[in-house]
Amino acid sequence: MLRMRRCKIIATLGPASANEAVVAALVKAGADVFRINMSHATHEQMRAQIKIIRTVEAELNTRIGVLLDLQGPKLRIGAFADRAVKLVKGATFTLDNNPAPGDNARVWLPHPEILLALRPGHTLLIDDGKVRLTVASADAGRAVAIVEIAGEISNRKGVSLPDTEIPVSPMTAKDRADLEAGLQEGVDWIAVSFVQRPEDVVEVKKLTRGRALVMSKIEKPQAISRLDEIVEVSDGLMVARGDLGVEMPLERVPGLQKRINRTARRLGKPVVVATQMLESMINAPVPTRAEVSDVATAVFEGADAVMLSAESAAGQYPVEAVATMNKIAAEVERDPYYRGIISAQRAVPEATGADAIAVAARNVAETLDLKAIVAWTSSGATAMRIARERPEAPVLALTPHPETAGRLALVWGVHAIVAKDAHDIDDMSSRACKWAVREGFGKAGDRIIVVAGVPFGSPGATNMVRIALLDDEPD
Ligand code: PGA
Ligand code: MN
Repeated sequence: MLRMRRCKIIATLGPASANEAVVAALVKAGADVFRINMSHATHEQMRAQIKIIRTVEAELNTRIGVLLDLQGPKLRIGAFADRAVKLVKGATFTLDNNPAPGDNARVWLPHPEILLALRPGHTLLIDDGKVRLTVASADAGRAVAIVEIAGEISNRKGVSLPDTEIPVSPMTAKDRADLEAGLQEGVDWIAVSFVQRPEDVVEVKKLTRGRALVMSKIEKPQAISRLDEIVEVSDGLMVARGDLGVEMPLERVPGLQKRINRTARRLGKPVVVATQMLESMINAPVPTRAEVSDVATAVFEGADAVMLSAESAAGQYPVEAVATMNKIAAEVERDPYYRGIISAQRAVPEATGADAIAVAARNVAETLDLKAIVAWTSSGATAMRIARERPEAPVLALTPHPETAGRLALVWGVHAIVAKDAHDIDDMSSRACKWAVREGFGKAGDRIIVVAGVPFGSPGATNMVRIALLDDEPD
């Protein structure tokens, strides 16, 4: 399945896409990666979804990526005697360590570590920011707060703390169990919610031990303030605009999206733009102009992937939503302004062999108008460094490892194929040519550039480029 689109599409699976026919239709419409959201899926549902994905992938003879999104420490208040209360502006409201049902003066906050971390002046947002409080005083037993934005709050609503660094790991007991279950099913990427510190990511990487790549969801101001360090230790990033827009002023989100994109790009880490991209398509077969513009902006920025959440998981038009993203991305990539914008954001290479070769491959491909950059890649790192260059020529990644192909499904411009290991340079080159023809990148007489590490199979040793002539029909 050859797709010339560079920006990838991630579709979240859910009740609206829980069967093989819909999943196959989503792939045909353009989905490259499926996200399973562990805030909603049970282990059994997750396994069933992965089974469907693997069946469809075999049927369509393509490799689809699977992203397991962990719920993370979603903080919640306790319950009220009368289910809900109305808070009025200027009133005092206390969150405390008393499990007794709450009223309009107080409620239980079942997170002792949060009470300890709150300080006067900190903001408390309840129910996605619908009600806003400012802490007046806090100790281990209670936080007394003033109501700034009034509204109704009800049993177990979520609490966000934009100013407070929460002294807990972003991995709850549920997340750990979900992670293990997902790794057993061979998921390709793990998304970590509410990352605050680089240590949070390092902790998850210790648990995954290389069995999947780790994506940090940037959705807290604490993560923004340590963005570079977090990007450095992450394998990928998500601009998680849902929670980010709750914890930060909404009007800051577009600028932050640009900043996260550029930081990720500079460090060569795949970046996903997520949430409310085609929100109105949950209930309508066509998007709004503003949504089309939003998806287009992400593609113009050179994001590795754009993501659908409820649109494909629970909406009425999951296939139309993917098809819409596909059309927008394809059109933007044909736009006369696209190349200029993408190239202007190119970051200087790092002083490594892999980057020097990636730059050389792009230059040679552009100078000679080659049909493809074909990269033999074991871990996927070579292909990712080439993608970082955002070359005009398509990137064909050849890897002996299906896991690597699954991971690369999310990466800008990379078309990954599972191919038998090559045994020497000539073999690499001739098989790269065969694959390029077979996958439709060129025909006899066209030329490609082949990139590899020799001896083959030693990760991180990209050191060879060769221009090769396509002369073979596929056997
Ligand atoms: P969520 O993450 O859908 O898991 O909350 C994405 C976001 O916050 O934008
Ligand atoms: Mn979120």
